[in-house]
Amino acid sequence: MRALILFGPPGCGKGTQASRLERAFGLKQLSTGDLLRDAVSSGTQIGQEAEAIMARGDLVPDRIVIALISMAIDQIRDQKGFILDGFPRTLGQAEALDELLTAKDLALDHVIEMTVDDDALVDRVTGRFSCEACGEGYHEVSKPPRLEGQCDRCGARKFKRRADDNAETVRKRLEKYHSKTAPVLPYYGKQGVLTAVNGMEDIDQVAAQIDAVLTG
Ligand code: AMP
Repeated sequence: MRALILFGPPGCGKGTQASRLERAFGLKQLSTGDLLRDAVSSGTQIGQEAEAIMARGDLVPDRIVIALISMAIDQIRDQKGFILDGFPRTLGQAEALDELLTAKDLALDHVIEMTVDDDALVDRVTGRFSCEACGEGYHEVSKPPRLEGQCDRCGARKFKRRADDNAETVRKRLEKYHSKTAPVLPYYGKQGVLTAVNGMEDIDQVAAQIDAVLTG
């Protein structure tokens, strides 16, 4: 089973690239943000605990996301591999992930850091929205639907925005990225699994850089 981490700040394109890799390489996207949003919308105990924290742009406690990701990996044991999107976000999570992987007899193949300037990130996140039916992602400026008001992929006419994709919360999330998450990078640098790609390029060029790492 292949294990890959897409690492980078909110809005760097992790989700877009992870769902593309899911289709191209048959790897399963595991996004702690998606797992938490599902928990919030189904009103579970974890969801109730996480909702206000997420709305503020703070980090959900390590014990919660570690438990979620461990269960998610166990559920996909028959697949070719997985891409972690949005996890780990702290050194504690990175260390717990190593323990988890060792216990499950798995190892990390690559950690791909997607680098993007902070100013570009705020615009990317505040302008994004997605199809309510199929989840296809859009952006007001860089990727509007080809036909206004209609999803390119499935034709649905309803779109949604994340509650935490507003300018104030994005700044808080970026601050957390720099103070808690970016310091994890040297941990993976020392393990020899880290590669940086330029996330400022357009989606296809970023995809080509990532594919070169995976197939290289
Ligand atoms: P994301 O969809 O990755 O942008 O995550 C949305 C929100 O979920 C974050 O701002 C955090 O509040 C929470 N979250 C997602 N993943 C993690 C994680 N690994 N550790 C802590 N909080 C997380």
